[in-house]
Amino acid sequence: MDCIFCRIVAREIPAGIVYQDEYVTAFRDINPEAPVHILVIPNAHLGALHVLQASEESVLGKLCLAAGAIAQQEGISGEGYRLVANFGPDAGQVVPHLHMHLLGGRSFSWPPG
Ligand code: 5GP
Ligand code: ZN
Repeated sequence: MDCIFCRIVAREIPAGIVYQDEYVTAFRDINPEAPVHILVIPNAHLGALHVLQASEESVLGKLCLAAGAIAQQEGISGEGYRLVANFGPDAGQVVPHLHMHLLGGRSFSWPPG
């Protein structure tokens, strides 16, 4: 499958990887929307939440734990951060590999646009 995020996980194309383990990779977004903008993704090519299988449940916890640890590492846990996942065209999803945006380093408005 020609997926840009799968290729980043496999280190076939460069990215600013800040964390990687057996299940999760996190790297800096190429077009950051905040001083800290990191994408936290499963190493396996998973799709949207509504197509996940029960057997894939545990990776969601690993993504959230990694995001929290990276927020600490990046120094944004005190002031606050936002975790966002886009699914489908109305949400503006571009890359079909499940991912969470970890954003911080500035304040964010609510509700989101
Ligand atoms: P989505 O809109 O699908 O939720 O977000 C995809 C994100 O991936 C965008 O913020 C975009 O800037 C980022 N992105 C797309 N291609 C690349 C790439 O090749 N490298 C990196 N580091 N980020 C990418
Ligand atoms: Zn993929």
